[in-house]
Amino acid sequence: MSGTADPKLTDLPLRPELKGEEPYGAPQLDVPVLLNVNENPYPPSAAVIADIGRAITDAAASMNRYPERDAMALRDDLARYLGHGLTTANVWAANGSNEVMTHVLGAFGGPGRSALTFAPSYSMYPEYARNTHTEWLTVPRRPDFSLDVDLALRSIAEIRPDVVLVASPNNPTGTRAELDQLEALCDAAPGVVVIDEAYAEFARPGTRSALELLPKYPRLAVSRTMSKAFAFAGGRLGYLAAAPAFVDALRIVRLPYHLSAVTQAVARVALAHAPEMLRQVDVLRGERDELERWLQTTGLDAAESDANFILFGRFADRHQVWQQLLDRGVLIRETGPQGWLRVSVGTPAENAAFRDALTEVLPTAERAGDE
Ligand SMILES: *Cc1c(COP(=O)(O)O)cnc(C)c1O
Repeated sequence: MSGTADPKLTDLPLRPELKGEEPYGAPQLDVPVLLNVNENPYPPSAAVIADIGRAITDAAASMNRYPERDAMALRDDLARYLGHGLTTANVWAANGSNEVMTHVLGAFGGPGRSALTFAPSYSMYPEYARNTHTEWLTVPRRPDFSLDVDLALRSIAEIRPDVVLVASPNNPTGTRAELDQLEALCDAAPGVVVIDEAYAEFARPGTRSALELLPKYPRLAVSRTMSKAFAFAGGRLGYLAAAPAFVDALRIVRLPYHLSAVTQAVARVALAHAPEMLRQVDVLRGERDELERWLQTTGLDAAESDANFILFGRFADRHQVWQQLLDRGVLIRETGPQGWLRVSVGTPAENAAFRDALTEVLPTAERAGDE
C-alpha cells in the first residue's frame, strides 16, 4: 500500500460551521489581461529585483536559525514609512493584512464576541470572523456606498460590537469615508475600531488618513498593506499602526516566528525603494479617473473610487458580462452587490483592452432595471 486513504471531505470530522465552505479566492486564470485582484500591474525594476536577490542570499546564510521573532528592524522601517510620529512599538506586521486582521479578531473577537462592518465590504472579513469564532454582523451603506453614519451609530449603540471594522477606501466599492465620520464611530464604539486603509495611497490628494486619529483613540488601529500601491502582493506583507498595548495584544495571538527571515528581508528592501515602488501610483490614479469617466459615458453607473479599482454596473446578468469579457482575454471580478462588477486599474494598454472588450459586449448586455 502507498499514498493515503481517500476519504471524502464529508467523511472527516470537520467543525460543523465549516461544512460546505469553499476555500476563498478569485479564479487564477492564465489570460492576457488580469484586472481582477487589484494588484499593481507594474513589476519591480531590474535594480530592485537585484537587491531582493542579494537580500535573499544574505538571509539564506543563516536559514538554520529561526527568524527575528518580533521583526523589529522591519517594524522600524514601516514606522518610518508611515510617519505621523509613529515608532517601532506602534507597528505590527504579518503575512498580508489578512493575517494582521486575523490577529486582531484573535485578540479582540472570539467566542461570545462580535465584529461589525458596513456592507458591501471586503469579502474576506466574514472569513476572518468565522475562523476566530467571532460573530459577524453587518449594517448597510447608503445606495451610493457611502457610510450611513446615523445608522452606524444607532447600530453600534444597540449591538455594542467588540470590533468595528471599516475599510476606507472600501473594497469592492472604492468609496472612502471622511475623517469626521470615522471619528464619530471611534467616539461611539465600545470596543476596538480598525480602519483598513489597504488602498490609502490611491486616495485623491488631500484625503486625510485615520493615522491622524491615533493620538486621540487608544482602541483604534489603522491597517495597511504592501500588496496594492506598493506593488508587493507576492511578498505578503501587511501591517498595522496602533498604541503599543494594542500591538502587545496582537503579539499574544501570533504564531511564533510567523514572519520568515526571507519575508522580513525582502520587505525591507522594498521599503528602502519606497519612492520607486510607489512611482506608478500617480499614473494609476490618473488611469482610474479616466476609466471612471469613460464608464460613465457608456451610460453605466460607476461608484466614485479612491482606490485602484472601479465598481460598475448594473447588469441584469453580470456573470454573462464577466464571461464575455473573459472570452476576450480580460479577467475582472464578479463581486459586490448583485448586478455590479469590479475592474482593477491596470496599465494604459490593459485598460484600453478592457474598454475595447466592454465596448463589444455592451450592446447585448441587458441593464438591470430599477428595483
Ligand atoms: C487587498 C486588501 C487587503 C490586503 O490584503 P493582503 O493580505 O495584505 O494582501 C486588505 N484589505 C482590503 C479591503 C483589501 O482589499
